[in-house]
Amino acid sequence: MSSSTEARSPIIHWFRKDLRLADNPALAEAAKSGRPVVAVYILKPADSDPWAPGGAGRWWLHHSLLALDNSLRNLGNRLVLRRGRSRDILPELARETGATAVHVERLTEPRATEIDAEIENLLKPLGVKLRVFGGNLLFPPEEIKTKGGGPYKVFTPFYKACLGQAPPDSPTPPPASLPRPRSPVKSDSLDDWRLLPTKPDWSAGWLDLWAPGEEGALGRLEKFLENSAAGYEEKRNRPDLERTSRLSPHLHFGEISARACWHGATSDIKPEAGKGAEPFLRQIVWREFSRHLLCHWPTFPEKPFRKEFNRFPWARDETALGLWQRGLTGYPIVDAGMRELRATGWMHNRVRMIAASFLVKHLLVPWQDGAAWFWDTLVDADLANNSVSWQWVAGCGVDAAPFFRIFNPILQGRRFDPDGVYVRRWIPELARLSNRHIHEPWKASKQEMEDAGVCLGKDYPFPVVDHATARIRALEAFKQLRN
Ligand code: FAD
Repeated sequence: MSSSTEARSPIIHWFRKDLRLADNPALAEAAKSGRPVVAVYILKPADSDPWAPGGAGRWWLHHSLLALDNSLRNLGNRLVLRRGRSRDILPELARETGATAVHVERLTEPRATEIDAEIENLLKPLGVKLRVFGGNLLFPPEEIKTKGGGPYKVFTPFYKACLGQAPPDSPTPPPASLPRPRSPVKSDSLDDWRLLPTKPDWSAGWLDLWAPGEEGALGRLEKFLENSAAGYEEKRNRPDLERTSRLSPHLHFGEISARACWHGATSDIKPEAGKGAEPFLRQIVWREFSRHLLCHWPTFPEKPFRKEFNRFPWARDETALGLWQRGLTGYPIVDAGMRELRATGWMHNRVRMIAASFLVKHLLVPWQDGAAWFWDTLVDADLANNSVSWQWVAGCGVDAAPFFRIFNPILQGRRFDPDGVYVRRWIPELARLSNRHIHEPWKASKQEMEDAGVCLGKDYPFPVVDHATARIRALEAFKQLRN
């Protein structure tokens, strides 16, 4: 192909986990070229993708793709939707449009590099270059390594290594224009993908809670920086106060870059506000750390990092798992979290830790079963964050909370939801109980229960296990593992 033909040929921008126009280096480079851009999103067939999004993720994806298409249309372009394997779709699309390059953001998921290399090899004979750009992470993963040149397994030194780097590049604005190819490119219809739940439709009201898409993400960051960021360190563990950013689904789908969050926080949170931006940046770096781990240990989603946990005597208890999933364990803080998850597709981080710990330690259900439920029900379900966090809670991951440290759900409730506001919000049947008994209703007197209009065992369950007994059972199980 002559260089002048190449100079006019379209570039395919392949959207994956970067559903945004701003601070998207792969897209910016395509826009800079002045060449027509074919903007495509490819939905993998569920049977070829072990980590296809769950129900809540599919709901978010539908709305995020709609929003992305809208933004592209404002630039005179549009989103092309195709379903199939990228190794088939991309060569087909290049042939159809005469594109000579495919731009894409780098992923850290298992086999991501191999898949990109495979696609590169398929495109090369067609005269099409695959160009992979950073953008999803704050720091290029290969630059964060230990003195010995290996990956980090402990968060704090990883964090220090990140802080020792030059600050991440400033985010770039969206392209001013993005010309589309002259001939129309055929696209699937989003509705035909059936990403939204129908029978039953459990997502009623979710669009009042969430605004998927880039604009929603920027709005969420702005609101957080204005209202909550200053008290973040002090209040971030309080599920009753709504003081965290709720940026997680936006970050998962790449509707906002981690760099935009980093720079927003460092420029807007004043140093005199407690520890300034640091506590929030620390969480953003946890996201980075999870990706670092998944990149180096791709078996994280399925297998315990600490091999001895393969021998852990888990109980395969479907009934207990079902009660946990439905928020019917009889421990209010756990049940409130599980009901928040079902009702909104999200759960506060502290409650995720308490609910996850309860499943693996009080009920001895394997962490993979809990992770699978979260995968299906969280709008922010994220392979790296979910797997690493579950293993952290279960004590089998890197730098994990030791298994023998068992959260007491009553004390956790009292400490982080001191007035029972969060429990009352999600378990209205307990709303009239006193603060004293809101986290342990079985201790309330008959009179108090009557006054509060609750009958245990009828309106709300008795505890599925006794805390002290469950604790001893968990420690026994752990002892067996060590023997
Ligand atoms: P903020 O406190 O405002 O933090 C800002 C951002 O930092 C988050 O949006 C997120 O991207 C990142 N972050 C915060 N905490 C963590 C963490 N512990 N690990 C990695 N990144 C973090 N997070 C997900 O995004 N997807 C998941 O599937 C997921 N599964 C989890 C499962 C368990 C059992 C636990 C204990 C935690 C899980 N987390 C997951 C981490 C954390 O709970 C959420 O990121 C956080 O609650 C999102 O709320 P936020 O955006 O208001 O967080």
